Amino acid sequence: MAQRQAYDYVIVGGGTAGCILANRLTADGKHSVLMLEAGGEGRGLWVSIPAGFSKLLTHPRYNWGFQSEPEAGTGDRRISIPRGKGLGGSTLINGMIYVRGQPGDYDAWAERGALGWSHAEVAPYFERLEHTCVGAAGRGRGGPMHIEEVAERFPISDAFLEAARQDGQPRNPDYNGPDQHGFGYYQVCQRRGRRWSAADGYLAPARRRPNLHVRTGALATRLLLDGTRCTGVRVRQRDGSEIEIDARAEVILAAGAVQSPHLLELSGIGRPDVLQAAGLPVRHALPGVGANYIDHYATRMNWRVQGLATLNETTRGLPLGAAVLQYLLRRKGILTLGTGLVFGFVKTRPELPAPDVQYFFVHASYADAAVRKLDTLPGMTLGVAQLRPRSAGTIHAACPDPAVPPRIRPNLLSDPADQECLVAGMRVARRIVQQPAMGRYVAAELSPGPGVQTDAQWLDFARRNGQTIYHPIGTCRMGSDEQAVVDPRLRVRGVQNLRVVDASVMPSMVSGNTQAAVMMVAEKAADILLQDARLR
Ligand SMILES: Cc1cc2nc3c(=O)[nH]c(=O)nc-3n(C[C@H](O)[C@H](O)[C@H](O)COP(=O)(O)OP(=O)(O)OC[C@H]3O[C@@H](n4cnc5c(N)ncnc54)[C@H](O)[C@@H]3O)c2cc1C
Repeated sequence: MAQRQAYDYVIVGGGTAGCILANRLTADGKHSVLMLEAGGEGRGLWVSIPAGFSKLLTHPRYNWGFQSEPEAGTGDRRISIPRGKGLGGSTLINGMIYVRGQPGDYDAWAERGALGWSHAEVAPYFERLEHTCVGAAGRGRGGPMHIEEVAERFPISDAFLEAARQDGQPRNPDYNGPDQHGFGYYQVCQRRGRRWSAADGYLAPARRRPNLHVRTGALATRLLLDGTRCTGVRVRQRDGSEIEIDARAEVILAAGAVQSPHLLELSGIGRPDVLQAAGLPVRHALPGVGANYIDHYATRMNWRVQGLATLNETTRGLPLGAAVLQYLLRRKGILTLGTGLVFGFVKTRPELPAPDVQYFFVHASYADAAVRKLDTLPGMTLGVAQLRPRSAGTIHAACPDPAVPPRIRPNLLSDPADQECLVAGMRVARRIVQQPAMGRYVAAELSPGPGVQTDAQWLDFARRNGQTIYHPIGTCRMGSDEQAVVDPRLRVRGVQNLRVVDASVMPSMVSGNTQAAVMMVAEKAADILLQDARLR
């Protein structure tokens, strides 16, 4: 029988958080680290070109392609829940938008029991991960992640910014600075027109270290437990064979907000009645596993555009040929655009201390928003998302087979405060587009259309047409209470030598896209792990 393999740390998931941990834990050469990734190397044309984003939304090589259960609150539809697969994880397929969130988000984490995670305590980690020339003091200048402002400008995007000004909204040159409020061009994780993933920033520079071992096509199917001590991981390899790998120090789950709770449950760690219903043994009762599933839910308002070409027409035929040439020669043009062009962080009521809604403006419109299939006639879209939803759902294993996806019940838009906020956000969006600066470009509001006026009509539109913007969090919530899954040092409560480090540990939603917050969590987690290693 082959000798069992053993490493100091085994990281499950080579995604956003996984790549950061792999780099930081191997830097001093003292620890051996194995990172297991179920997907592949994560390279390819669609990955590196930002405009490949829409292809990646459904690409089975790079995307797990989960779906929610149908729920009455969102029109009994199955909502698509893409998740990245391959080294880099969701940063391989995401929209690249970089948002730190608001200081209050992290202070709220600390107030809810995530001690040590207040804004003052996490801000240095954002700075450590960034390399950007945007903004002033407090922004990172030498970190691994390249962050650039979207370079392309279009008459209609400038007109939209002018319309926002006419509506009384401030212009904000850096929404990742002290105040998020206002409008401007998005910041994206790109370097000279290419996607810059966590694998580019963190894994590539560490890959040659002799103490870092990376295995792709390796699906962790179960955690190995000796009583309540985690000793390693069972792994299904590409050829279907299964092996067991020992962790001398710790196993770190970094499989993301969908798969980390799933793997805990497959290993018998979770809410006892849920485990039993799925035919799983109960090895350690931990009631919070898979609860607190929170995501950003967005509606997309569309207008027919006149007087200029939009991406609907310029991404096909001859104009697309010209764009490809421009991209190949100069790494510029519309192929450098991912999902966001102009941002807006608005207060739906002036008395609010901070924005409660985020906008995504782009001069393109979709015949099918779920798969980003573009319209043929000129159009523009304003995506509207509530920043800090309270609605929370669940994610639970359906059965003991690790190849069967978990059941996801997001419970989106169930909290009345969320409904009110989203409706208010859409009303402000319509008001901005009706300002004089947009008059010459807007031919008609297509969706929801001028017939939608009352709160009930707006809400009905949101329920039937919204999609998530792919930011699930919270399913292995960090905290100090009985329902928390991990403690503030990210240790799974009641289990030794096991931590979770990814989007699932966030106690509550941050105000904006989640990649930056996940990266901060992983940077801080690496420091915690190394401190604990020194004490061991
Ligand atoms: C389509 C899309 C668009 C998005 N757009 C943006 C955006 O523009 N800006 C932004 O800030 N955020 C965006 N996000 C969200 C952001 O990318 C995620 O919040 C973040 O990357 C999650 O990081 P993570 O480490 O938690 O998980 P991931 O990066 O998803 O990593 C998990 C990794 O674990 C692997 N894995 C899972 N299970 C196993 C297993 N059992 N064994 C081995 N490996 C396993 C997966 O294959 C994956 O590589 C988007 C996400 C998606 C999917």
